[in-house]
Amino acid sequence: FAINMTQLQLDEELGKGNYGTVKKVLHKPTNVAMAMKEIRLELDEAKLKAIIMELDVLHRASGPEIVEFYGAFFIESCVYYCMEYMDAGSLDKLQGAGVQEDVLARIAASMVRGLKYLKDDLQIIHRDVKPTNVLVNRKGQIKLCDFGVSGQLEKSLAKTNIGCQSYMAPERIKGESQNNLGTYTVSSDVWSLGLSVIEIAIGKYPYPPEMYSNVFAQLTAIVNGDPPELPEQFSDVARSWVTRCLVKQPESRATYQELQQHPFLVADINRDVDMVGWVASAIAHRDSAPVKNARSV
Ligand code: ATP
Ligand code: MG
Repeated sequence: FAINMTQLQLDEELGKGNYGTVKKVLHKPTNVAMAMKEIRLELDEAKLKAIIMELDVLHRASGPEIVEFYGAFFIESCVYYCMEYMDAGSLDKLQGAGVQEDVLARIAASMVRGLKYLKDDLQIIHRDVKPTNVLVNRKGQIKLCDFGVSGQLEKSLAKTNIGCQSYMAPERIKGESQNNLGTYTVSSDVWSLGLSVIEIAIGKYPYPPEMYSNVFAQLTAIVNGDPPELPEQFSDVARSWVTRCLVKQPESRATYQELQQHPFLVADINRDVDMVGWVASAIAHRDSAPVKNARSV
């Protein structure tokens, strides 16, 4: 069955990104709460139809670390995309309370499992790994969203937000500046993963934005500077795992298999981690300090 707007009751706004707005909605026929993303695109009907068809492969993308896809439709020049509602929101807004190393390892392990599943089972490279695209629910589950499945959609979204808080790997930044779009490989996602894990650990974007006079200077720091590291309060095991993600040469960067076999993630396999407790305290912290955690978009 296909979802359409008349079946949906619109609730509150969950957030805004560079390309659209995400709202909580209720799918009345099934009584399921969903998150609906609205993307405004000035395209003709044929292109919008092509996007909806390309998004259809998302019905096959289902796994414990993947946000479930319910369907997409378009009205006039907007694409609407309905997915699983994650009731604790995205990791960027949950990281202010701090994370212990066992929680960090569980988040990292979930992200690697999700990314490896996308690649091995669906031949999908995520292309937009960052804390706002890692969603959490009160059950303590960590799931990925917003991975690149529609070439037409990617082409249509103006890539104007290249800039502050870039999670792009050095080879991608270099490739874009040379207008060479063939440089994106799965290892570019591994860089973004490592940067995201540091951000979750320290509660802020790892390259200090105030250090650079402009966006160009920040991108130069990613390409020419030393990669960021996990601070010394974390164990050597955790720090070495992150270091394996943030290798500037893509050929030398860790694979998902290596990351899973690293002691940092091996230790997570049979460990009891109170993810429910962590999510509850992170939400309490977020909701008590909304201004501090507000993001500039
Ligand atoms: P960008 O536009 O660069 O991708 P973004 O990921 O923050 O940035 P959106 O994907 O539009 O932008 O999402 C906006 C916000 O909505 C997210 O930051 C997240 O907090 C919230 N959100 C998105 N999807 C869901 C969901 N399925 N459940 C709950 N909240 C969500
Ligand atoms: Mg997103």
